[in-house]
Amino acid sequence: MHPGCRPVKMSAVVQRLLKARTVFNALKQHRACMSAAPDPIRQPDIKYAKLFINNEFVDAASGRTFQTINPATGEAICDVAEGDKADVDRAVNAAREAFRLGSPWRRLDASERGRLLNRLADLIERDAGYIASLETLDNGKPYQVAFAADLQLVQKCYRYYAGWANKYHGKTIPIDGDFFTYTRHEPVGVCGQIIPWNFPLLMQAWKLGPALAMGNVVVMKTAEQTPLSALYVAQLAKEAGFPPGVINIVSGFGPTAGAAIAEHMDVDKVAFTGSTEVGKLIPQMAGRSNLKRVTLELGGKSPNIILADANMAEAVEQAHFSLFFNQGQCCCAGTRTFVEEKVYDEFVERSVERAKNRTVGNPFDNVEQGPQVDEEQMGKILSLIDSGRKEGATLCVGGNRVGDRGYFVEPTVFKDVKDNMKIAREEIFGPVMQILKFKNVDELIERANDSEYGLAAGVMSQDIDRVMYIANSLRAGTVWVNCFDVFDAGAPFGGYKMSGNGRELGEYSLELYTEVKTVTMKLLQKNS
Ligand code: NAP
Ligand code: MG
Repeated sequence: MHPGCRPVKMSAVVQRLLKARTVFNALKQHRACMSAAPDPIRQPDIKYAKLFINNEFVDAASGRTFQTINPATGEAICDVAEGDKADVDRAVNAAREAFRLGSPWRRLDASERGRLLNRLADLIERDAGYIASLETLDNGKPYQVAFAADLQLVQKCYRYYAGWANKYHGKTIPIDGDFFTYTRHEPVGVCGQIIPWNFPLLMQAWKLGPALAMGNVVVMKTAEQTPLSALYVAQLAKEAGFPPGVINIVSGFGPTAGAAIAEHMDVDKVAFTGSTEVGKLIPQMAGRSNLKRVTLELGGKSPNIILADANMAEAVEQAHFSLFFNQGQCCCAGTRTFVEEKVYDEFVERSVERAKNRTVGNPFDNVEQGPQVDEEQMGKILSLIDSGRKEGATLCVGGNRVGDRGYFVEPTVFKDVKDNMKIAREEIFGPVMQILKFKNVDELIERANDSEYGLAAGVMSQDIDRVMYIANSLRAGTVWVNCFDVFDAGAPFGGYKMSGNGRELGEYSLELYTEVKTVTMKLLQKNS
């Protein structure tokens, strides 16, 4: 247990997460699996730390490696091969070969692609305890959450897309004249996928699932902070039977390996999840090279709106969860908590109490919150907290680092936050809650929409008319009503404005992993 942190029994943490009706659906749905969660492996063996190219683990061409760090201690876990442009070239060549007409992958029936994805999900299920432990070690998220939320959503995502493999098909179209016209949905080709560190396994699944279901091949770059779990899943994909070259993982750094993917002349599409800052560069790189297709999943500053008629206990828990979940490292986190004037003081008081009770510590223990992913993120969070103080927001609780080992930050709550403060405009990506006051709904909508982002939003109320009005007026890709962070592989997710471009999950993502081909045949004569 980390200094300054209180131990709680697992059952208390789990019960708290499960009790509130509004918390993350996955945690509720998987109550059974939660109680069946195996004990964590506190020091999981690191089996794979090389690049995965053409179904083999290989050293980087340069021979270079980098350390991946355990954020709970600040100590190195192991050395990982550091891929760069030369390795991306190798991976793209392997992928291109796997995509060649007549290759085993291209000849595979669509239903068989689905079977492989289901088999991958089975293998992830088999090794879920180990994989969740690996994720906790590398990322710092509490093991119970990794097991009950991340791992379950990952399996469901692969199974969901397994089902789509032979179901996303074209149309026949009655064009004028003696013609027969139909469309085919064909794979785009070599898909570059660049993923972040906040949900390493889940972001891998969101990207691999639809890409593979539609018959694409992939070169993926993982985040430098969290390379390990994706490599293990790559080995499981090999075990499941995916042919060589279909899935390639190049661990490494953004400006080298990541940019090499985005600028590659032989990559047909790039899908990126991460910061808006880097997200702006990706289309430029695509434009400078081969105009590859680009989809982007970027940052957010999501409003979470609490109307006065909301059930107060549920609203407090929902708002707490929406912000603090995953150490606050969620692109969709409810970071601007707008509370109706009448209930503002009570809401603040209860939210502060809730934050004080949040358990922080070693993510392998029974805690709600682990460390931030790295020292840089911790520093950025602490400096934004400072700016909040300086700009005149009232710091109600928290505000400091916890201890001096690892990258832990106290659950922090600010009240009296104004729209123009930095903490109300910039993505903090940490356990820092901003509570703002509003008087009426029209003023609220204007303020909620006054952001460069538009990823998600929450509304808590029993008043269906006001809920519908607000939900329809918000410029956000997802609106959660009386809940938050309810993710399902079937429900699309993505942003308006500078939160991104395109949608992941659901049927909608399939469009972005296929090319539509129109085939028109001349007929001998018009049917009478
Ligand atoms: P980031 O730099 O945008 O990282 C996302 C991914 O892009 C990583 O794999 C990264 O590689 C790669 N990348 C970085 N520079 C690149 C470049 N020039 N070309 C191609 N790829 C590149 O995000 P971060 O620095 O880890 O985090 C910074 C902030 O981004 C956070 O504080 C948060 O606000 C936001 N963020 C958002 C999400 C999200 O889910 N939307 C996720 C993570 C972070 P490296 O790992 O080597 O940097
Ligand atoms: Mg790490």
